[in-house]
Amino acid sequence: MKTAFFEIEDWEKDYIKEKLKGHELKFYQGELTADNAKELKSFDVISVFIYSKLNKRILDQLGKLKLITTRSTGFDHIDLEECKKKNIVVCNVPFYGENTVAEHTFALILALSRKIPQSYGRTIRGDFSLDGLRGFDLKGKTLGVIGSGHIGVHVIRMAKGFEMDVLAYDIKKNRKMAEKLGFKYTTLDDLMKNSDIITLHAPLNKHTYHMINKENIKKIKRGAFIINTARGGIIETDAIVKALYEGHLGGAGIDVLEEEDLIKEEAQLLSKKFLKRRLEISLKNRILLKLDNVIITPHNAFNSSEALKRILDTTVGNIKGFIKKKITNRVG
Ligand code: NAD
Repeated sequence: MKTAFFEIEDWEKDYIKEKLKGHELKFYQGELTADNAKELKSFDVISVFIYSKLNKRILDQLGKLKLITTRSTGFDHIDLEECKKKNIVVCNVPFYGENTVAEHTFALILALSRKIPQSYGRTIRGDFSLDGLRGFDLKGKTLGVIGSGHIGVHVIRMAKGFEMDVLAYDIKKNRKMAEKLGFKYTTLDDLMKNSDIITLHAPLNKHTYHMINKENIKKIKRGAFIINTARGGIIETDAIVKALYEGHLGGAGIDVLEEEDLIKEEAQLLSKKFLKRRLEISLKNRILLKLDNVIITPHNAFNSSEALKRILDTTVGNIKGFIKKKITNRVG
């Protein structure tokens, strides 16, 4: 099998070479274009990220192509209709970072509950005083989880390890999991009223856009904390700023901001193409950054070595599965 990888970093090249020993491999730092497609007439497999647009014009040039395996969850950069006509199988990476994002969620929770940034800021100045550094226990507190999917369930499992009570709100209830892990489904209102910490793990769509807004934020228990590692647009920024200023919320841990909702894939953030400037500007504009009880990370929850390797492992698995005629993660 002749396989070409696009949008590849050096470390990925080495990792893939190790995993696909004996394969004829070609690597491109940039994306697949109508120009370099000419070099790939005899290739059977290509692997791309989202900046390679696999349209008819490019696919027409790849006469022998049998498999496209995208190193992304989304596949809207691939013309599936055309692939179907040409008998090209398309595979993706459906998930790669549930535990990774859940761990970052707890990093934010613990940083807030134990005032880690403030403590660290003090000790590096040689100040070991404890004034103002008193935190609170997680044990016995109620965590409200909005979205009990792949990431949400990992968060719940971790919360149980801290002996927290867990309330969940989801449009689809996983009753078996609720019984197994010992958490309770409830309404959004009830979750807001009764949680000490609320954490978001639902997708951003027209139903979840501003799910927490100026109207309903007042329903949240006074002094509660809010954590967002899902998407910025789920919380109305003005609402959270006001609630923090007025002291209604005890604090917030935020990995995702409203302005960056154009990002479709986390790995986009690692790409040179992503407008880092945009994120910087939005961060600078944020009053949130100045608040002592708010921790903001730069959409970094996905960014562990293991998660990125899992993307490559799934991709390599998709290629090996195709060769063995046991296709995995097929989307087209
Ligand atoms: P998932 O699809 O497994 O779970 C999402 C859950 O949300 C599902 O159970 C679904 O039923 C529920 N849901 C959908 N609409 C809802 C609504 N209106 N109200 C309540 N619940 C609703 O997804 P996942 O893998 O757990 O990921 C969750 C989100 O995390 C993703 O959509 C993504 O935006 C975000 N994410 C962020 C990072 C990061 O680096 N910060 C990384 C990966 C994913």
